[in-house]
Amino acid sequence: MRQRVVIALALCAEPRLIIADEPTTALDVSVQAQIIALLKRVCRERNAAVILVTHDMGVIAETADRVAVMYAGRLAEIGPVAQVLQKPSHPYTAGLMGSIPRIGPRPDRLIQIEGSMPRLTDIPSGCAFNPRCPKVFANCHHIRPELRQIADGAAACLLYEGVTQ
Ligand code: SF4
Repeated sequence: MRQRVVIALALCAEPRLIIADEPTTALDVSVQAQIIALLKRVCRERNAAVILVTHDMGVIAETADRVAVMYAGRLAEIGPVAQVLQKPSHPYTAGLMGSIPRIGPRPDRLIQIEGSMPRLTDIPSGCAFNPRCPKVFANCHHIRPELRQIADGAAACLLYEGVTQ
């Protein structure tokens, strides 16, 4: 109910854009679905856009049109939800998606991203993901990748910049 009240308060000012930061955290699945449905409905009715900040891939798959994957404060990948979730281009996104259990044939082990997120005061040089990346190569340690277009999205990874040495 508190979540609903907060959404109602946010809508009072008739915003064009709502930034919803983890709006379904700590809610059980059925209430979560209600909150998401409510957000979608009121935004459709009021012609407002939503930036949904969440760690829940299920919520993203169910709710969003486009998704941006952040790592250490920068965009790692962005694109249409189906493209990013089903065919991730960035190794970090691939690791995230590989760590999610699926119904159907299962691998022996889920993919695990080694290590942990760097402190924002101590981000590695080059690509910030390089200490944890299974595809790391020499240039990753000193060249910071920029976003490159891939299909309808983009990824910040040197694998797409032709400098794989
Ligand atoms: S730039 Fe290198 S370290 Fe970074 S994600 Fe791509 S392959 Fe991995």
